[in-house]
Amino acid sequence: MSEQSKAVRREKRNSYIKKRKLPIRVLSLTVLISVVGLAGLLYISYSMDRIARVYNGVVKNDYANLEYMDSISQNFYRQQALVFQYMDNFDDNDKKNNLKINAKNIETALFDEVKEFGDNVIGTVYESSYHTIFSGLNGYFSNVNYIFEFGDVNDYSTAEFYMQNMLLESIEEVNDAVDLFNTLIKDDVNKTQQEMTNHLEVSRIISIVIIVLLTIFTFIGLAWSISASREIAYKDPLTGIDNMDKFQKDMDRYIKKGRITEYICVCSNIKDFTIVNQQLGSAVGDMALRNFANTVTQRLQKDERIARVGGDKFIMLIRNEHIDEFVKFVDRVSITVDYHNEAHIIQLETRCGLCRIKEGYDAGTIVDDVHLALSQTKLKAVDNIWFEENMLEQAYDRKTLLAEYQSAIKHKEFVVYYQPKVNIFNNTLCGSEALVRWWRDDKIVPPFKFIPVLEEEGRVTELDFYVFEQVCCDIRTWLDNGIKPVRVSSNFSKLHLRNPGFAEHVLEIVDRYNIDSEYLEIELTESSGYEDFDAFTEFVDKMRSRGIHISIDDFGTGYSSLSLLKKLDVDVIKIDKSFIDGIAIGDEMNESLVKNIIYMIKDLNRHVICEGVESMQQAEFLKKQNCHMVQGYLFDKPLPHDEYEERLKSPVYKNVVE
Ligand code: C2E
Ligand code: MG
Ligand code: MG
Repeated sequence: MSEQSKAVRREKRNSYIKKRKLPIRVLSLTVLISVVGLAGLLYISYSMDRIARVYNGVVKNDYANLEYMDSISQNFYRQQALVFQYMDNFDDNDKKNNLKINAKNIETALFDEVKEFGDNVIGTVYESSYHTIFSGLNGYFSNVNYIFEFGDVNDYSTAEFYMQNMLLESIEEVNDAVDLFNTLIKDDVNKTQQEMTNHLEVSRIISIVIIVLLTIFTFIGLAWSISASREIAYKDPLTGIDNMDKFQKDMDRYIKKGRITEYICVCSNIKDFTIVNQQLGSAVGDMALRNFANTVTQRLQKDERIARVGGDKFIMLIRNEHIDEFVKFVDRVSITVDYHNEAHIIQLETRCGLCRIKEGYDAGTIVDDVHLALSQTKLKAVDNIWFEENMLEQAYDRKTLLAEYQSAIKHKEFVVYYQPKVNIFNNTLCGSEALVRWWRDDKIVPPFKFIPVLEEEGRVTELDFYVFEQVCCDIRTWLDNGIKPVRVSSNFSKLHLRNPGFAEHVLEIVDRYNIDSEYLEIELTESSGYEDFDAFTEFVDKMRSRGIHISIDDFGTGYSSLSLLKKLDVDVIKIDKSFIDGIAIGDEMNESLVKNIIYMIKDLNRHVICEGVESMQQAEFLKKQNCHMVQGYLFDKPLPHDEYEERLKSPVYKNVVE
């Protein structure tokens, strides 16, 4: 069977289960089984009853008739014997008369019996036999009467004549009739026996048919039930493809057969699938997932597997030689969905984690590894990533970092460093940037080791407020101690823009420490404004209305356009270190770029600061471009609180920029 027809069959079966046709079928089958079973039992019971009744009737009647026949025959013989004795004692009148009287008595008794017999058989198949016997007996007795009549007048020869010629003939006639009657009874008994045998045979056949049908029906029902429970246990109800249990089972099978290394495990999820759900509704979203699963399934080769992990995540086993083509295909899958009664083609793009399976891997490890690879695609913003062993270590570090984060906040393990910003026109301290460090196990952990992880997990916001509060607290202390602070900028992740109470929270801290807004600046990175522009402008407006400065960090590394910058009412633009790195190393293009960016920012009436200034040449170049503020190792690295406090006390730098 081709893969396509298999897929069609699978689809049919799934829709059939989904539409609950199977339970209806099982129910119909059960009803059918019951009806057939009941009808069969009724028939058997009816035919047994009939057999019993027929048998009882026939047997009862036939036995009664046989008894009559027996008695009639006996009396008939006794009667004949008396007639013969009568003839033998012809000369002895007394004896003769006695014998005659006895014979007459038997005759009466015989006729009474014959009459009774007649009542029993008239209207039955034996009626004609009865008439024959009756007329035979009549003939016989009329001859006997002749014998007695001639005996009364002692005419032996005439009596003898009747005896020899007439009587024997009528005896013969009666005997023949009796024989015929007996034959009839025998036939009837045979017929009844045959009928009984036939009924029993039919009942036996019917019983066998019922048993066979019941067995077949029960097996079919059982097979359907097993297949239904398999479907429930091993199928994903939404898409109808296998679920994870089945996938792992198949992997175990391949592992046992030693074939697992012929495959690559792929775990993919659909990019921005929430947008499909949000914009087209979850019903269309479900249809999209179903169609995606079907389209990918049809692309699988023999023995390749697919299952739905959940949501928009799918897992596959793809043959080594097919992987390149498959990944290319699954990167962008076109599917059709019905929306407002119209068919629409949509493109679903995926991210894939890939895991080359080595000897000795078990199903659980493969699934974990491929999931890990997939999780890296989002973090690294790429479409496909192959699993590598070092990912496990990274994942472990990440896990422990997240596990320890909360307690680190609670135990104040995070400390704030301040990196001075310098006015290169008068070589004095003009501001600083608050940069967090983690004192973890007596070592300083730099922010690049934990900020990106916390950001990805959406947990950095707590830390930003922690740092900001520390900054406000330090400024308050310096002010209270008569040390003049400079403006401190604090980094805030773009994640805050999702929080409608962001501005209020910032202001609440500012008010709590009673800090003048001239000492505060908030740094937001450029990319944050692009995604949440409305939230960004709203926040900027709220801060500006309270006189708190806003700067755009890492300018030039994100996606925002210069026209966007025009719309944003921010105070300071920080040009990213990557542009500064290209200064004074002969990269004219870069220098020209920096020159023009500075010119343009100034033209827009914004302040400009360059970060990452490490050499005097860079500082001199920037001074030439009329950039007043710089931040970099040339002047200071980020300083711990106490060192920075010293810097506040003597804010003039010796390394003068020409
Ligand atoms: P950023 O905000 O762009 O901070 C500037 C970074 O450049 C700092 O690194 C600083 O030490 C470094 N830097 C400054 N001048 C020089 C230089 O001349 N040479 C070199 N090589 N580096 C220089 P740091 O402190 O490691 O911070 C890295 C990033 O971590 C920051 O980049 C910021 O994005 C993030 N970060 C630090 N603290 C926080 C925080 O409290 N909240 C948030 N959300 N992010 C933070
Ligand atoms: Mg910064
Ligand atoms: Mg920066």
